[in-house]
Amino acid sequence: MGVAIKSRHETVISGDVTPEVNPMLAHRITNRDPKTGRVCPKYDGVECSIADCRGRAAARGWCRDHYKRWWYDGNPEGFHLTFLQKFWSRVDFTNEHWLWVGAKTKGYGCVARDGHRHYAHRIAYEMLVGPIPEGLEIDHLCRTPACIWPEHLEPVSHRENMRRHRELRVA
Ligand SMILES: [Zn+2]
Ligand SMILES: [Zn+2]
Repeated sequence: MGVAIKSRHETVISGDVTPEVNPMLAHRITNRDPKTGRVCPKYDGVECSIADCRGRAAARGWCRDHYKRWWYDGNPEGFHLTFLQKFWSRVDFTNEHWLWVGAKTKGYGCVARDGHRHYAHRIAYEMLVGPIPEGLEIDHLCRTPACIWPEHLEPVSHRENMRRHRELRVA
C-alpha cells in the first residue's frame, strides 16, 4: 500500500508504509528534504494530514497539537485537554441551569476553538450528546440563552425554531 504525502513545495513523496503503520518511518519521511534527500529535523515540507491544519507533521502524519489530542482521547480531531479545562472553568453549574460565564454574543456563550468562534452550547451538546445533524439549530427549551446544559437543548430545523419563537412571543 503506497502513501503519497504532498509537501508545501508540491513534491510528492511515495513510500510503502503508511504513517499509521510505522510512525518512526513516517517521522523520517516527514523530515526529509526532497531536494537533498537528507533528513532535516527543521524541514517543514510536510503538513499535518488533518484538513485545514497548517501545522508541520510530527508524528503519525499529524502536527504536535493533533497528535496530543489523539494521545488524550483517541481522536486527533477531538477536544484538547487544555481546551476542556478552559471550557468547563467558564461554566456556573446552578440547580436550574449550566450558565456560561465567559464571552457572550447576544446572550449566547461564545468560545474560540481551532481559530474559529463557536457557540458554547453547541460545543457542550456535541461533547456530551453527539454531533448536531447538518443544518439543524439548537433550541433552548429553558429559554435561557447562556445555558449550555444539553438536557435543556434540542436540535431543530430553522423553520421549527422560528415557529417556536413566534409562539413564544404570542403567548
Ligand atoms: Zn494538525
Ligand atoms: Zn437551561
